[in-house]
Amino acid sequence: MTGTADTGHSGVIAPPLAHESALPPPPPDATPSRSPSTLRLLHLAALGYLAVGVVCGAAFLVGDQDIRDATTTVTIALMIPAALIAWRVHRFDAAFIWAVGAVAILYGAAIVIADSWNSSLAPIAESSLDLIANGIIIGLIVAVVRRRRGEFSRGDLLDGGIIAVAAWMFSWVLFVEPYVDGGTNSTIRLLVDSLYLPMNMPMVALCCLLLFTSTRPGPSMWMLVVGILANVVGDVFWALDQTRGVGAWAVTVAGLLYVAAYAFNGAALVHPSATEMIGRSGAIRRSEIRGRIVTTAAALLGSVMVVGLLAPVSTVDKIVRFVSLLALLVLVGARLVIATHAASSAQARLREMAMTDPLTSLPNKIALIDEADHELDRAWKTDRHPSVYLFDIDRFKNINDSLGHSAGDEVLRVIADRLVFTARSMGATVARPSGDEFVVFDPTPTGSAQALAHAEVFHSVFAQPISTGSGTLFVAASAGVASVPDGAPVSGEKLYRWADIAMYRAKSAGRNCLALYDESMQERVSKRLRIETELHGALDRREFRVFHQPIVDLEHGRVSGFEALIRWQRSDGTLVSPAEFIAVAEETGMISSIGSWVMLEAMSQLKRLTDDRVVDEDATMSVNVSPIQLADPAFTDTVEEAITRSRLEPHRLWIEVTESMMIDSPDVARTTLRRLRRLGVRIALDDFGTGYSSLSLLSQFPLQRIKIDRVFIDGIADSPNDRALVRTIVGMGQSLGLDIVAEGVETVEQLRLLREIGCAKAQGFLISHPVPADAVRSTVDALQGLIEQPGFAQILGSPRP
Ligand code: C2E
Ligand code: CA
Ligand code: CA
Repeated sequence: MTGTADTGHSGVIAPPLAHESALPPPPPDATPSRSPSTLRLLHLAALGYLAVGVVCGAAFLVGDQDIRDATTTVTIALMIPAALIAWRVHRFDAAFIWAVGAVAILYGAAIVIADSWNSSLAPIAESSLDLIANGIIIGLIVAVVRRRRGEFSRGDLLDGGIIAVAAWMFSWVLFVEPYVDGGTNSTIRLLVDSLYLPMNMPMVALCCLLLFTSTRPGPSMWMLVVGILANVVGDVFWALDQTRGVGAWAVTVAGLLYVAAYAFNGAALVHPSATEMIGRSGAIRRSEIRGRIVTTAAALLGSVMVVGLLAPVSTVDKIVRFVSLLALLVLVGARLVIATHAASSAQARLREMAMTDPLTSLPNKIALIDEADHELDRAWKTDRHPSVYLFDIDRFKNINDSLGHSAGDEVLRVIADRLVFTARSMGATVARPSGDEFVVFDPTPTGSAQALAHAEVFHSVFAQPISTGSGTLFVAASAGVASVPDGAPVSGEKLYRWADIAMYRAKSAGRNCLALYDESMQERVSKRLRIETELHGALDRREFRVFHQPIVDLEHGRVSGFEALIRWQRSDGTLVSPAEFIAVAEETGMISSIGSWVMLEAMSQLKRLTDDRVVDEDATMSVNVSPIQLADPAFTDTVEEAITRSRLEPHRLWIEVTESMMIDSPDVARTTLRRLRRLGVRIALDDFGTGYSSLSLLSQFPLQRIKIDRVFIDGIADSPNDRALVRTIVGMGQSLGLDIVAEGVETVEQLRLLREIGCAKAQGFLISHPVPADAVRSTVDALQGLIEQPGFAQILGSPRP
């Protein structure tokens, strides 16, 4: 290895250096901007290096020993300007210059020593200098690889270790052992020289890593790798000559390969793509993993084959082989353990991510149902009735809309923490399935009564004030409770669905309350679904009817108008009440077209009744309007069209609205109602007393009538409270100049009291049920006869002359 023909064993030079602290990772935009002319010059310089390589190679081939030394020295010396270009133009670190300089000086010194120091120590000194230079080069490559891919993982180190040990075994059997066996050299020299070849092996491993970490290796990267490999192969040829005496040609080939290595590495340093070496590589790619597996496997296979095919020649050989194999086994074993561990922990992480809600870190629905299923299996045939409580925050959208999503998130996190705290003391599990919903799985209740009691405890958590960055907030939640029934196993999924159904029930029962699931709810849900399906196209199939319920004027004893009430006559002839399908029509958006139809139909029927002289010229029609219709900007046009087409005066139409719209979106309500008023249409507040019953609404909105809800009329005869309330409403309405209608009058006594209180109008089954259009004439006639009877006349007043 120390023959005079080759002085530099390794021509490999790579950029930034060795010590971490000297190498802070480059900023992402480290690529210096270079002008086109600079780029051209750099390309030329790279070509120049390759050309010099060709010329020196030719000189090396034909020249004598002095020429060979000279060409080698020139190519080594040329590394220094290349390093300077890399430093100044490509902005490699200064440490890099020192490292390359040190390598060049060490190699140069080795040549000088080999040529001019006549001492038995000279070969040892030469080999030692080369060895140190190689160490620096390995450090350089390590620095590049680390810079490109960050810290080495334990897997990286083990892979490197496996390749290195395999390479060591390979070179031991083929080169080192015969060399040691030659036996002519001193122990120190043996030690230094036998380290030499194995040292190349980590370089091969590092080259592989370098290529694998480049998304698309540029010319510099390839030239660097070719240079390193030329050097390694050169060392192998040199060793072949030294140990197996294959002939002087091997030394020539080795020398040529060294010259090529310097040329390629010089070109790699000056080429414009050299900046790639100091940049960070992107994410680890599949090809890198594949490349690593292939390289490691090839190294293992190669070394094992060599060890297996060539029989050991001495005891020392046997010992070295045995120890090396043992080391290899340990490394491969460790690598397997790490790989398996990494795979299983990655899987666990994925699983965890799929099972948790990122906002609150609570388990999600899948995880909860998983756990519920597990518990339900165990609870089956015990006296426990595991239960699911599903909570949905009421009007959570308002918080998000008015205070922003971060306030909403904060509220959710606070509630999550409190629920978890409560659940811990009760042995329950909390999860967040979605948005503003929380779900609790409680395995402990012994029956639905206890489940309800436990659910109450969780429900009270929502009532506690929440202080956020935007002030103190109050929220409420609707809850559905579902328990495992007696005697039948049930799945977690089903229990969850039941709780969901019950929760919707709680919502429609006025929110902020709990509902316990029972089987009738399931029936209701199926029925609802059926209605939704059948409702589609019902308008086109002309299945809707408008019924009319007379409203009588108690002062003048006559029919003053009608309320239009929709009915749905299904294909089988059955009549469906609006209570069953209006909500569905609202949720599906069908209400707008259905509502327009009712408006048009009701008005044209009133026109016909007037023309037929069934009713007076000033009889009115009241039409119910859903909040969804009111919010529709086209609604006033619909009303105008109905008025125009029926050729009736606008004041003959009453529009009945409920409070909810005025509470939920007061601005929209105010605008729409004012527009309607401008048309000349009158507006009645329906179901007064049941909702928020905010008296201030009466002055805030342009209303002309209030309809007192049936529940108060129902109690008017028996409950002094109800009577007082009706009296107050009537008095207040009168003072505001409002028309007042009592709904749901069913008894003579109720009617008498209403008249006494001073209520102007009444409507109810006592007077008439809602009737189809063709029954209105007979109904009005019958009513007129009734009013003229002495008993009624007393109550209703005498008919107008
Ligand atoms: P509402 O506006 O309060 O209508 C009065 C309801 O009370 C009607 O029920 C009527 O049949 C019933 N009723 C009248 N007198 C009595 C009585 O003395 N005792 C009792 N127990 N009930 C009485 P209906 O027709 O089933 O309508 C229910 C609800 O459906 C209506 O309540 C109204 O909110 C809605 N609705 C009806 N038609 C329409 C419509 O065309 N559009 C919209 N958006 N909603 C409608
Ligand atoms: Ca009504
Ligand atoms: Ca009503």
